[in-house]
Formats: sequence, C-alpha cells, structure tokens
Amino acid sequence: MDYKGTVYRPPIEACTILLPVTEGCSHNACHFCNMYKDVSFRMLPTETLKGYLEEVKQRFGVYFEGYAKKQKRVYLVGADPFVLSAGRMLERIELIREYLPYAETFTMYARANNVSTKSDAELKALAEAGVDDLYLGVESGLDEVLRDLNKGYGTQEIKEQCFRLNEAGIHHCDLMMTGAAGTGRAAECARAAAELENETKPNKILVNTISAFEGTKLDDDIKAGRFVPASEREVLEEEIAFLEALDLPDCYFWAAHPLDAIRVEGMLHGEEKEEMLAELRQGISQVQDGEIRRVSRQGRL
Ligand code: SF4
Repeated sequence: MDYKGTVYRPPIEACTILLPVTEGCSHNACHFCNMYKDVSFRMLPTETLKGYLEEVKQRFGVYFEGYAKKQKRVYLVGADPFVLSAGRMLERIELIREYLPYAETFTMYARANNVSTKSDAELKALAEAGVDDLYLGVESGLDEVLRDLNKGYGTQEIKEQCFRLNEAGIHHCDLMMTGAAGTGRAAECARAAAELENETKPNKILVNTISAFEGTKLDDDIKAGRFVPASEREVLEEEIAFLEALDLPDCYFWAAHPLDAIRVEGMLHGEEKEEMLAELRQGISQVQDGEIRRVSRQGRL
C-alpha cells in the first residue's frame, strides 16, 4: 500500500482488512503524540481508494471472490477518518461494497468533534450503512488533563457525542490513557475516568499508559521538569481503581498495549473482571517505581 506515514490501527484489528481513507490527523496537536508529525492531513480522493481496492483484487486474482466473502469487517485507515462528511463517508462505503459486498462493519479511529459535525439523521444513515465500533480518543475523565494534553475537546463534548452515537446505534470503543495527569493523581484520574465511561457506555475500553515520545511537548515538559510522570506503581494503581469502579458488564476491557507493564483483557463482568484485577494486584507487588522511566521513554510506537 502506497501510503504516506506509518499505518496505525488498534491492535485488536490485526485481522481486519485496512483501507486508507485519510492521511495524517486533522488535529495533529495532542501534546503526547508524534504519530503523524511528518504527515500533512488530507482526505484521500475516492480514486485512490478505488486504486487500492483494484490492487487487492489483482493480488488475489482468481481467489478474490473467496477472499471477498470473508471480509465482513473493514478498517478505514487514518488518524480520524470519521472527519469525512457523512456524504463522503457513504460514497466510500458504497465503493468498498462494490468490491467487498459482504462487508458488514466499517470501523475506524474518530475524534469527538468528528461526531459533532454530523446531524442525528446523518449518524443514523452511517449506522445503517455499517459504520460501527468507532475508536474514540477519550484519554481522560478530567477536563484539566484533556486541556493539558491539548486534546481539543473536554468531557462535556465527549459525553454529548457518545450519547448521540449510542442513540444512532453506533458503538464506540474508548481509548483511555493511564498516567496522563502525572504523579500523585491516580485515584482522582481513575474515579473521573470510570464515571465518564459508566455514563457514556462504550462497548470496548482500550487502555494504554502515557508515554513521552520524541519530539512531543510532553517529552520537553518532562525534560524541563514541568511534568513529573506517574511511577509504574501509580499507573497500575490507577488502572486497578479504574477497573474496580467500572460498571459496564457488557463491555470488553483491553489493556494489553506494548506500553502497558501488565497486560490484561476480558469482559467487565464477574469472573473475567475479577481475574484481570487479580492479575494486576499480583503484578503490582513486583513492579519497581523506577521502571516508569523505561516504559515511558520509547521513541515512538
Ligand atoms: S492522539 Fe490522535 S487526535 Fe491526537 S494528535 Fe495523535 S492522532 Fe491526532
């Protein structure tokens, strides 16, 4: 695939066909992120998408029909392809269905403000067309933290847009970030994040630990002593308190990112939730505080 920049996708979409719709990020200003620093944002024209689909078709040759039958889920590539207007998105879905007629679900990353630019009727039309499982960058339940991260929206907008997605029948998978407030804030962060998530009712929660990637403001702030990272122990305490406070039995919890010191996943009901908590509690006793420096100093994902 001839695509500018690195192709990022949620780890749990490893087996999903990836089709590019946008390049870069329409925001590209979060203080912890360097994923798209070297790529200008642009919406790819439908001809480009058609070119990729033709490429896939040619690669599979006589086996393409069999391949197409298995593609029930499509992942649209880009930092926030949901930025496309409803009309443009529907046009692309129609084109993909010409090649992959069995595709039922079109999933992708999204920002809360990508939702607010669409009317309720447009969200319904997108849901009917198969748009579902939006990976939504929520990160924190604290407005002050979202502001410091320069996320570009606060908890009120997140809530309102999640309610609208729920109403339209579009599930959202919320991306949450532990350690985002720095040291000494674990309990407060966990409580606020759980309150927000319990209210907005995602069908999945994906957790990763904040990391100071090269060239980010966060990295500069740490070096200058303006931001003191939470210790590994604090990050795990936050994750445990967050998990304990979540009351979403039908939600899938995934905290197995390469940046997470202890990797757990499972449904947030009875046994599975208890197993995840037991694993985290058992692991926390073996974690040295100093380890946060190792985990949080990766150059990039
Ligand atoms: S975290 Fe997401 S929204 Fe923020 S700059 Fe990176 S890609 Fe864009």
